[in-house]
Amino acid sequence: APADEPRPIRRLAEDVVNRVAAGEVIHRPSSALKELLENALDAGATAITVTVKDGGCKLLQVTDDGVGIRENDLAILCERHTTSKLATFEDLNEVATFGFRGEALASMSFVANLTVTTMTKDAPHALKASYRDGVLENGAAMPCAGVKGTTIAVENLFYNVPTRRKALRSPTEEYNRIVDVVQRYASSRTATSFVIRKLGEARPALHCPVATERVDRLRAVYGAAVAKELTPLRLNVSMPGAGAGGLRFALDALISSSSYHSKKSTFVLFINDRLVECAGLKRAIEAVYAAVLPKAEKPFVYAALTLPPRAVDVNVHPTKREVHFLHQDELIDEVQRAVEGVLRGANASRTFSVGT
Ligand code: ADP
Ligand code: MG
Repeated sequence: APADEPRPIRRLAEDVVNRVAAGEVIHRPSSALKELLENALDAGATAITVTVKDGGCKLLQVTDDGVGIRENDLAILCERHTTSKLATFEDLNEVATFGFRGEALASMSFVANLTVTTMTKDAPHALKASYRDGVLENGAAMPCAGVKGTTIAVENLFYNVPTRRKALRSPTEEYNRIVDVVQRYASSRTATSFVIRKLGEARPALHCPVATERVDRLRAVYGAAVAKELTPLRLNVSMPGAGAGGLRFALDALISSSSYHSKKSTFVLFINDRLVECAGLKRAIEAVYAAVLPKAEKPFVYAALTLPPRAVDVNVHPTKREVHFLHQDELIDEVQRAVEGVLRGANASRTFSVGT
């Protein structure tokens, strides 16, 4: 058509729509990994092993010891919007699982070769199923040997999306992002063990056994130099005055003392057990440290916030990790004051309570 005339509107073919949608959920190996880890945790895993080849571009595999997937569910497992976690829109009000929209596995099957090996506790054997473009290949899963739990292998990510594949960084950089995601979940979920291994290497790159104390887990994840400088900070705040419903939150944090030396800031934030980012809170805490630490020294902060579920909106896009919640400014003020208190008191573990 000539340039000054509108072009006709056409309906996109379904496979194009699906591949485009998949690219919104799965940006790179580490975003696929996040989805796989969350699925494993949702399945009640107590042990998770991540296997990586070429920064996850050749192979990204997650093995868990969770409940497994029933044979009857395998046919629709990788269709879009199939989930065991959400049935009605109202369920969103109390969704306790990471997942609920049933898009992750579907997305992966549109941009990679996906293989699922799974076994439920009463099954006579495991089942192996391969998927492409949402569809179970060969029409059925094959019986095989296995143990209870699920292994999901994502191979040749973006084999059919050359632009996306070219946009990936070096395998080393993609691998580092993968490690970062595992480190964050491992910091939070101390009752689950986490292992990362590079395919073909005998020794795991990271091994975090089940821990009872979070500081022990953080030692396994980030090393002794970090762990020995951490001070616990717990807050339990209930302020009736702060607007509708009041401000209620709990903070369970481990924060570095002023004698911790690092050139790199680490800020790990969970809100109601979800890995999120909150630029305002991060900035506020880093400002406290900036006032205390020598220039170029950066803090380590692990913070788990518990808010009333209704104060946080979980129905945001899975890859948009930045959160907003009610009474954000007041909460940030409280946390900032508490961090200041800890840094001034240097080594004290304290519990603050504001109001009742
Ligand atoms: P969602 O997590 O939003 O439900 P996914 O596409 O991530 O969507 O997963 C679809 C479904 O597959 C889940 O609801 C769950 O029933 C099942 N599933 C995925 N991964 C696992 C796993 N590791 N163990 C058991 N079931 C799983
Ligand atoms: Mg999921």
